[in-house]
Amino acid sequence: MLELQQVSKWFGGLPALQEVSFRVEPGRVTALIGPNGAGKSTLINCISGVDKVQSGSILLEKCPIEALPAHAIADLGVARTFQNLKLFSRLSVLDNVLTGLTVAAERAFIVSMLRLPALRHQERQLRLRALEALDEFSLVQKANWPASALSYGEKKRVEMARAFVSNPRLVLLDEPVAGLNTEETAQIACHIRRQRRAGHTMLLVEHDMELVMAVADQVVVLDSGRCIACAKPEEVCSNPLVLEAYLGRMEATA
Ligand code: ADP
Ligand code: MG
Repeated sequence: MLELQQVSKWFGGLPALQEVSFRVEPGRVTALIGPNGAGKSTLINCISGVDKVQSGSILLEKCPIEALPAHAIADLGVARTFQNLKLFSRLSVLDNVLTGLTVAAERAFIVSMLRLPALRHQERQLRLRALEALDEFSLVQKANWPASALSYGEKKRVEMARAFVSNPRLVLLDEPVAGLNTEETAQIACHIRRQRRAGHTMLLVEHDMELVMAVADQVVVLDSGRCIACAKPEEVCSNPLVLEAYLGRMEATA
């Protein structure tokens, strides 16, 4: 689905990503882990087109996307959530999810200029799909609430519903359980597994190793901008390089 080939990125002479190569297989959950500052968010930003790589290639189903602007990459079916929530707090939960369909909606609008009855039909279809996405994330009862009235865990789920509503080819999840309690984390794990069963492909940046172990098919480990391992979750745990670079350092700071 997605292939990174020797991707490098510097910030003012300091390397953030150094010749990173790995693949994200279709229908699988690939987890991206590594200590703070390893380059995980930078990588997500490069894939979604927010940041540009300086060398290397990013292929979405064999098509190079590294030079495309963010909106073009979104149009190709790459959706994302943010490490820090980005919701419209005054809009309803349903309207927030509908913003995940804006590109499609804009096209629908142009069609509707020519055929008005089609507009009403399209609008209904979009709302139905948004409600379906909210239902997938157990939020349909709160569709008309203002987003600001939801708990932090519910807001995280609204972001996920917005990412999945357009049925994207690839979903990038940046720390979906950061700041959540055990119960909310378990709920998110359940939703990720459900989306995987529905055939979705995900790249998940996560610190919470329990979540990684519970949902990932494949784990990519970054350390100081380099990919130091790419393996099954159970193999990563016993990889000495990973233990030293990641888990060892975590224990040292604990
Ligand atoms: P992670 O998400 O794994 O914690 P980041 O991708 O945020 O790591 O950061 C990787 C490295 O790149 C860090 O050294 C960070 O300071 C640096 N970095 C990230 N974004 C910028 C930026 N916009 N400008 C300068 N340096 C940055
Ligand atoms: Mg980060």
